[in-house]
Amino acid sequence: MTDRPATPGEAPRSHGRLSIRASASPRSLMDGPPQVKGAWEARVVTLFPEAFPGTLGLSLTGRALEAGLWRLATFALRDFGEGRHRKVDDRPAGGGAGLVLRADVVDRALAAAAEGAPEDPARWPVIYLSPRGRPFRQEDAARLAAAEGVTLLCGRFEGVDERVLEARAVEELSLGDFVLSGGEIAAQAVIDACLRLVPGVLGNPQSTAEESFADGLLEFPHYTRPAVWQGREIPPVLMSGDHAAVARWRREAAEALTRARRPDLWEAYLRRRDPG
Ligand code: SAH
Repeated sequence: MTDRPATPGEAPRSHGRLSIRASASPRSLMDGPPQVKGAWEARVVTLFPEAFPGTLGLSLTGRALEAGLWRLATFALRDFGEGRHRKVDDRPAGGGAGLVLRADVVDRALAAAAEGAPEDPARWPVIYLSPRGRPFRQEDAARLAAAEGVTLLCGRFEGVDERVLEARAVEELSLGDFVLSGGEIAAQAVIDACLRLVPGVLGNPQSTAEESFADGLLEFPHYTRPAVWQGREIPPVLMSGDHAAVARWRREAAEALTRARRPDLWEAYLRRRDPG
């Protein structure tokens, strides 16, 4: 995903210069890797492509990116801006504070990001990260990870002109009930959660099967050496070597934690366990 077509009417010199600057540093990581056929791909539309790969370039996700086990492409909104100054935003209709990302600019960027991707949203979801969206949950991560790839639109300022979201039937997902300055951190969080579920990215698939939310419960507590720390012992059953007892303890601890901390998850868990 290196070569994006120039927007019609663009001055070639300016386009070249801007696109080089916009993606100078992450380029090597994002475009260097071997092309693994059918690798899961994230396409990110953002004013700040230099924010990527960000934390996704570290550790397991970073090594998997280098190995080509997943792909990352950024589409710099600025490249699709209007006029000589590549303007991407304007004042909100109806007045008020702040700026709104223009529908025509975002539309051109989303069109470029859609090239070569399936139109079926089940195969390739197109998502706007937004505090107004449905809360992003582990089941969404599983759905997105099972698709061929995903396009993520990062907002800035007051957000995006509503009409482009309607026209392109963009799905909205929220990271939680708080307001970030931009969608980039949210996009990285979503991609990271998906990558844990993309085969081959995490070393040990067993660890995702046991994690929080995998079975609707929060995860049990973890311990490691030293056996006694500041007078606190590791629960003796975990040192007993009795695998069945360990499994029972972990299940009970997960249930107790979920019940105490997340009554909403606990209710849903009970309903699934004892339907009717
Ligand atoms: N005026 C908007 C907030 C804009 S914040 C409102 O009140 O709803 C700027 C951008 O940050 C948004 O366009 C969105 O892309 C991103 N963002 C902010 N909070 C977010 C959240 N909780 N989850 C996902 N994205 C978020």
